[in-house]
This record gives sequence, C-alpha cells and structure tokens, in this order.
Amino acid sequence: MRSFDVLTPSNILELVQALKKATANSKILSGGTDLVIALHERRIEPDLIIDMSGMRELDYINEDNDNIYIGAITTFTQITESQLLNKYAACLVQASETVGSRQIRNRGTIGGNIGNCSPAGDTLPVLMVLEAAATILNSQGNTREMPIGDILKGPNRTALNYDEVIIGVKFPKGKGNWISSFAKLGSRTAVTIAKINVVLNADYDADTKTIRSARVGLGAVGKTAFRALRIEEMLKGQKVSDQLTERLSEELSKEIENAIPGRASLPYKKEAIKGVAHEAFEKLLNSI
Ligand SMILES: Cc1cc2nc3c(=O)[nH]c(=O)nc-3n(C[C@H](O)[C@H](O)[C@H](O)COP(=O)(O)OP(=O)(O)OC[C@H]3O[C@@H](n4cnc5c(N)ncnc54)[C@H](O)[C@@H]3O)c2cc1C
Repeated sequence: MRSFDVLTPSNILELVQALKKATANSKILSGGTDLVIALHERRIEPDLIIDMSGMRELDYINEDNDNIYIGAITTFTQITESQLLNKYAACLVQASETVGSRQIRNRGTIGGNIGNCSPAGDTLPVLMVLEAAATILNSQGNTREMPIGDILKGPNRTALNYDEVIIGVKFPKGKGNWISSFAKLGSRTAVTIAKINVVLNADYDADTKTIRSARVGLGAVGKTAFRALRIEEMLKGQKVSDQLTERLSEELSKEIENAIPGRASLPYKKEAIKGVAHEAFEKLLNSI
C-alpha cells in the first residue's frame, strides 16, 4: 500500500486548511465503513486522507421553524434515536434502522452515505423524497447548497469537486400532514440481485382519507436512487384503499422495467418490488 498523509481537522477553519491541500487523489473519511474497506482492497490509493470524525461541530440534529438540519458526521444510530427525526422523517429513521449491523450503524454517517454514492445507499432515495439539500464547503471556505438528487452522478461518483466536502444536510418540515415510510429487500450478506428500496412520503388528508400529494423514491434499481415522478402524479388526490396499494405495486413494477431494461435482475426485481411496495404502504398507513 502506498503511504499517505492524514489530516484530522477538529473545526471548520482546520477543515478549510486541510481542503487546500487536497488533490484529485485525496479522500474524505467520516466513519470509514466504506473507505477503510476500499483502502484494504486497494481499490483506492489516496495521497491524503482528511479524517472528519473528530469534528464535533458537524455532529448534530436540530430544527428551526421551517427545516430540519443534520450534521455530516451524524451516525445512523443517532438518527434512529432522534425524537425529532421520528416526528418529521420516519422514513429516514426506518432506513437507518436497516443499515448493516449495529457496529456499522454506530460508525457509518449520513455524509459518508451520500459521499459513497452507492446505488443501494439507503438514505439516498429517502433524502430525495424529503427534498433534502446538502451544504457543501470548499477550500476557499465558501459554502453552497445542492439538492441530493443533483449530487448523485453514478455508482461511487458525486458532483463534488475534490476540494469540497459535505458538512450537513437540511430538509423542509413541510406544510400539511406529511407521513413517510421506508421498506427494503435484501441485505449486504445476500446476493446483489436481492436489493430494492422503496420510500413513500405523502401529505395525507385524514378527514377524507386522501393523499393530497406524494413523493416516491426508489433505490438499488438503477445507477443512482431516483424519484418515480409518474407514480407521484398517479397517487395525487387518491383515496387510500386496497385497490390503491395494488395499483402502486403494479406501477412500481413497471417503473423497474423502465429503470433497468434488459438487466439480468429485472425479472426478479419486477416481482419482488410488489412485496416491498405493500410493506412500505402498510407502514405508511400504520403511522397515521
Ligand atoms: C458490513 C457493511 C454493511 C453495510 N450495510 C449498509 C446498508 O445496509 N445500507 C447502506 O446504505 N450502506 C451500508 N454500508 C455502507 C456504509 O456503511 C455506508 O455507506 C455509510 O453511510 C458510509 O458512511 P461512513 O461515514 O462510514 O463513510 P466513509 O467510509 O468514511 O466514506 C465513504 C465515502 O464517502 C466519502 N465521504 C465521507 N464523508 C464525506 C463527506 N462528509 N463529504 C463528502 N464525501 C464524504 C468518502 O471519501 C468515501 O468515498 C455497509 C457497509 C458495510 C461494511
């Protein structure tokens, strides 16, 4: 293994100084659950690692009147234990609960999940249906915000420059009665074919039992997570019923045909998603 430098900034000022030294070969480390494996397997040979794990100021979950804010090094365990997120983003809590093992949830971070940009990254379709944006810091000390969907460029490929880093995520609380759920098929130990994530987020009118507006996210069925806009339109104004659940699962199955045409996993995923859709819809209705 080639030797590399490690910088361990403990605040934003030090992080900016560290980013000034970054090259196209440098890497950010947060929890290390992806990066350390990539190092061991020699899939990467960085010249510099910027270790953000000691940056306590990026470890938070808080709110203001309009938005929820999550610091980049917040772990999956912290997300699952947050009352605020249980209230405003059940889908993010449910997704974080399904990540790997307890050890992985204790170390793996939301910033690392976005930075890794895996097609199967569990928080990615979730953050998309929450209409989340990442706050990105660069080596000049400037920040910009980018919607999560715009960051995801392909497997393990983000829109970030090498001198940029995600320092936090924010999403709106949403006006109305937003409820959400996440369901997943497959685990890390299972074969890759058996992975699908479905996220539902709906503004639900409890009086008329109608979906005023919906957002639907899919993961592990394409190069990146994506929103099923056609299905979101279909759900708008619909009364909740068994027939609607059936229709949702059929439409999601069609969506998969469009997302991965000709892929070996298509026949399996086309059927498997129906069960995942049922589970996600059931969880959504249980939260009412
Ligand atoms: C056994 C096992 C099981 C797993 N199960 C799941 C699972 O069920 N679901 C799932 O989604 N993932 C899973 N993972 C993958 C991994 O745990 C997650 O992707 C995790 O969120 C990575 O976070 P991290 O902090 O450990 O990232 P790191 O390993 O530190 O970094 C990952 C990548 O993101 C970049 N990066 C890190 N932080 C930032 C930042 N702040 N800004 C920009 N780029 C950054 C790094 O340079 C690197 O390329 C699993 C991994 C293992 C080893």
